[in-house]
Amino acid sequence: MIEDHDILNVDAPELSAAERFYLPQILDGMGTTIRHMGHSLFKRPMTVQYPEERRELRVENYRGVHRLNRDEQGRVACVACFMCATACPANCIHIEGAEAPWDDREKYPAKFDIDELRCIYCGMCEEACPVDAIELTPRYDLVGRTRAEMILDKEELLVIYDQTKGEKARKNPPITGYPRMAGAAALDPESETEGEQA
Ligand code: SF4
Ligand code: SF4
Repeated sequence: MIEDHDILNVDAPELSAAERFYLPQILDGMGTTIRHMGHSLFKRPMTVQYPEERRELRVENYRGVHRLNRDEQGRVACVACFMCATACPANCIHIEGAEAPWDDREKYPAKFDIDELRCIYCGMCEEACPVDAIELTPRYDLVGRTRAEMILDKEELLVIYDQTKGEKARKNPPITGYPRMAGAAALDPESETEGEQA
């Protein structure tokens, strides 16, 4: 219950004779309109014709849509350690690990989904990843017609890597395989194509 001493009465200020006609406010508003009109006519427009035109990002480390990186052999770099999903405060990463078909790691993600609508783009997942497999890209224009379309699966995240690898390099040099087993036999020669490798 609100006590009387917590209630603050606010009285309307007394208006002068000019203010009662609202002339100062009208002139003030017109001044603002004219100032913006002059700005539009004589200075560079502040608007951009999106999506044909795009503003340059003002921060280098902008955290946009995720991508799943590939290793040097084009395979998904993720080793299904669940560190990103554990670190994620929004609980929007879902991974199903499976035995890796390659000799240089134990596991790989059979399923890897990120709900981009639940994500708060904090970057904790990329900080947690021991092999720099997950990263946030500078892309900000992700659209979908349904909530389901905003849940990106492994293949979609790999496609984003293919599209953005020129826009943002991986933080660290690519790691060949799982760090613990670096130097071990790296590649299954039967899995050469990217689609099969993912
Ligand atoms: S950016 Fe943050 S909220 Fe989004 S998936 Fe990564 S850890 Fe989760
Ligand atoms: S993306 Fe990185 S942190 Fe997440 S499961 Fe894969 S290897 Fe682990």
